[in-house]
Amino acid sequence: MLELKNVHKKFGETTVLKDVSLKVDKGDVVAILGPSGSGKTTFLRCAGYLNRADSGKLIIGDEEYDLKKIKGKDLLRYRSRVGFVFQSFNLYGNKTALGNVTLGLKVAQKMKKEDADKIGRKLLEKVGLSDRADFYPSKLSGGQQQRVAIARALATNPEVIFFDEPTSALDPELTGEVLNVIKELADEGVTMIVVTHEMEFARKVATKVVFMENGEIVEENNSKDFFEHPQKERTREFIYKSS
Ligand code: ADP
Repeated sequence: MLELKNVHKKFGETTVLKDVSLKVDKGDVVAILGPSGSGKTTFLRCAGYLNRADSGKLIIGDEEYDLKKIKGKDLLRYRSRVGFVFQSFNLYGNKTALGNVTLGLKVAQKMKKEDADKIGRKLLEKVGLSDRADFYPSKLSGGQQQRVAIARALATNPEVIFFDEPTSALDPELTGEVLNVIKELADEGVTMIVVTHEMEFARKVATKVVFMENGEIVEENNSKDFFEHPQKERTREFIYKSS
């Protein structure tokens, strides 16, 4: 359904991604694990075209996007097919929860306010925030803000959602409510790639786990075999230390 092909990225002289490739099936929840600095976030940001790759492709369905440069019209289409949830929520402070969720629908898709609001309210209900539609981000907890960000990512009905460490800016007691929303999406069959440090989440929710180190995928497998029968010594060590 989705394929990332040979994503290569340097920052200055440092190569951060060494031709990383990944195949994802429809309904897969892929957890990307790995030590800090291994290139996980850069891989996701290149896939989400928030950083330009030096080379690499994203194939969705039968369309191929060049991650070095996606042009004009293609970019609009790409943006509606791929959702992104940031570590630090990235909500607009001057817009309400509903305003944040509907912005893409109104601006990029030129939907009428009335129609966009209807979809926005449904999505806020889905993430358990129907009573917070008119609240500004500063009046919401971190967990609530992240749930608004998830509702926003869902608004354009994307084929895949990328999550960059969605709970790492949250206090532990707020982590669960966000992971639960992601788990519900997984149960509904939403395709997701999640960079995370949450081993329990990877173990229980992910269908596939990818372990990265030094800009490369060291090991990937279905979640059960990844944790129960890691093939590489380095993977075993990482699982042991992180559990
Ligand atoms: P991870 O998500 O696995 O912690 P990152 O993708 O954030 O790893 O970072 C991989 C490497 O790229 C690190 O060495 C980091 O310092 C470097 N890096 C990330 N972003 C930038 C940037 N904007 N400019 C320069 N170096 C960067």
